[in-house]
Amino acid sequence: MPTSPKTRVLIVGGGLGGLVLAILLQRAGIDYLVLEQSVLIRPLGSVIALSPLVLPLMEQLGLLDEIKRVSKPLGKITVLRDDLSVVGIIVANSKHMDYQLRYGHYGQCITRPDLYNILLSKIPKERIHLGKRFVNSQNIIDPATRICHLVQVRCSDGSLYLADVLVGADGASSAVRQSLFRRIKEEHGNGIGGHGHGRKPLPKQDQEEQRYKQVALVGVTGPLNLKRYPDLGETFSQFKVVLNRHSPYMSWFMPVVGNRYSWLVTRTLEKPTLIHSDNSKESEWGPDATDEMSKAIRHLKGPDEGGQGTVGDLIDATDRQLISKVMLEERVFKTWYGGRTVLLGDACHKSVPFTGKGASESMLDAVALASLLHDNMPQSTIANSTAPSITTGTSSPAPPTAPSISTSNRHRADSMRSSSLSSTTTTSTAIIWTVEDLHRKVFKPYYQARLPVVQEVVDSSSSFGALLVKDGWVAELKRKCVFAIQDSWMGRSLVDRAHAHRIQVTFLKLAPDRGSVPPSQSQVVVALKKVDGGGGGGGVGGRRSVEEEEEEDRYQDMDSPEGRRRLDMQLLQLQQEQQMKQQQLQPRLNQHQEADQQGEQEESNQQYQQIYNRHSDGVHHQYSTTQDKGHAQVDEFMTGQSSTIVL
Ligand SMILES: Cc1cc2nc3c(=O)[nH]c(=O)nc-3n(C[C@H](O)[C@H](O)[C@H](O)COP(=O)(O)OP(=O)(O)OC[C@H]3O[C@@H](n4cnc5c(N)ncnc54)[C@H](O)[C@@H]3O)c2cc1C
Repeated sequence: MPTSPKTRVLIVGGGLGGLVLAILLQRAGIDYLVLEQSVLIRPLGSVIALSPLVLPLMEQLGLLDEIKRVSKPLGKITVLRDDLSVVGIIVANSKHMDYQLRYGHYGQCITRPDLYNILLSKIPKERIHLGKRFVNSQNIIDPATRICHLVQVRCSDGSLYLADVLVGADGASSAVRQSLFRRIKEEHGNGIGGHGHGRKPLPKQDQEEQRYKQVALVGVTGPLNLKRYPDLGETFSQFKVVLNRHSPYMSWFMPVVGNRYSWLVTRTLEKPTLIHSDNSKESEWGPDATDEMSKAIRHLKGPDEGGQGTVGDLIDATDRQLISKVMLEERVFKTWYGGRTVLLGDACHKSVPFTGKGASESMLDAVALASLLHDNMPQSTIANSTAPSITTGTSSPAPPTAPSISTSNRHRADSMRSSSLSSTTTTSTAIIWTVEDLHRKVFKPYYQARLPVVQEVVDSSSSFGALLVKDGWVAELKRKCVFAIQDSWMGRSLVDRAHAHRIQVTFLKLAPDRGSVPPSQSQVVVALKKVDGGGGGGGVGGRRSVEEEEEEDRYQDMDSPEGRRRLDMQLLQLQQEQQMKQQQLQPRLNQHQEADQQGEQEESNQQYQQIYNRHSDGVHHQYSTTQDKGHAQVDEFMTGQSSTIVL
């Protein structure tokens, strides 16, 4: 079978992360293609609680209104025992903890099919090749130069694809990851290396087989009777979680638009199970695999008003074809890239779904990766490769609301901003990224920016899951303590920390950050500054000294105690700085709240919005004499130009 024309970026996997990356590359004017194994994108699955962290991206893409039309804001999660007594409540829209006020948005609960449909509709059909199951990939080495100049992908139907960059967005059992790891092992074993993983063997942790401790049955009902399920009529989605004591099951009931319930029942296994063992039958899509578990959970308590109903009622109200059984594994891989291949989403970090962040983090990976690819691509190449795809808007673009991109990038962003999606296929023949450039300017900053964030997400989902599923009085006591601090300063600061990484795409107009809690610096921008300031030549083709290379290898090699210590130190320092600054800003925030009460809300909001917009990217601004000196003080403090602030 002939090889398809070369693509700049080949995305394997048309899941949530892969589709968002595709939309972003389309907007950036970078040639791409998606290979998806399914012949049809299946409308399976349950709810996705889109985190407030990912909604600025949707606003940048102009999709926020469309998403809000088919989703509900998340109001609260009530955790109940199976006698329906309350264990604790997590609230997202109360006076003391209002996500929209603090982080700019509530989480939005949307069914997976609705979200898929919105994303899919933004990608030209010919950019997604369905029925293409990735089998393996290989680096193509130029015999004359010994340089890896392309990556070749083979699909199960024998078709071949060539690309500059291969992105593995193919989910938790990623075949791209397996192929990459196999290659790293072979090359290291043969002593070849050098054009991939930095001459290092595959870390031990990445060689361990995948295990899972829980399975889940998930589905979305048809429309239900509001009298029986009044929660479905509420504007805010109010989740109910039922802990079934002395049983391995936990039930989640999540209202979605259209008077429907998205439901999920997890079963904790007696011991962790290997994914490739015989028990892998535990996880299969489609009705046959789900029947046994469906029968076993029918008797569990349902979410109806009187407490008489069962999970069986919801199963009966769900199309059998749309019930799925999934394994809930959790893991963060240490190796995210090698050669011209890079991983994204569940392919490199998989969390259990109890804090509802997996999909959002896959999409934020796409934000970081697309921004770095775009910002490190010569402008002429973007224009050449995509000229036919861009149609110019009639109105001149507005300036970005917060200046987090360098002048040259902003100029490029301005020129791209008015581009609209079109379906013209483009090809790209010139080689624009050497492997060294890709690693130094794109893959490594991407990895360094995203790893600490996703590690925290995986850890917190795991802890929250463990807190809920354990039986016994010690577990009950722990739950009491954790829910008791929800409404305290400590509880709020923990939630604040989890919502600090509000990154946005660098090449699209920035969405205003409306949250009263300041975002931490954009991780992508931090990473880019680090690379620019690295002294390695900065521009395309710049080379690092041997010392710098070794230094960076040590940094990436998490096996090395020094690398780990450096990363931990850096994280700790960032967290401490953030906490200190937030504490010192608290009196100003209190004043802000008082001003609200005195009916000065609008003016006060504007002032604080300006402050946070200004320091959100760490760029200092000059003030005219007419501007509030106090704002300048806050700015200097947040950007490190002043160590004190007079409040
Ligand atoms: C029950 C449940 C509830 C969840 N709830 C939430 C939530 O509320 N909020 C949230 O943010 N996250 C949630 N998640 C997590 C979320 O679904 C995942 O983290 C997210 O789907 C990962 O996206 P992805 O694009 O990385 O991978 P996936 O969505 O798994 O997509 C991978 C794609 O790759 C394709 N593919 C696989 N292998 C190949 C191959 N060899 N060749 C070609 N294509 C291939 C697959 O068909 C698929 O389309 C939940 C997960 C589960 C299981």
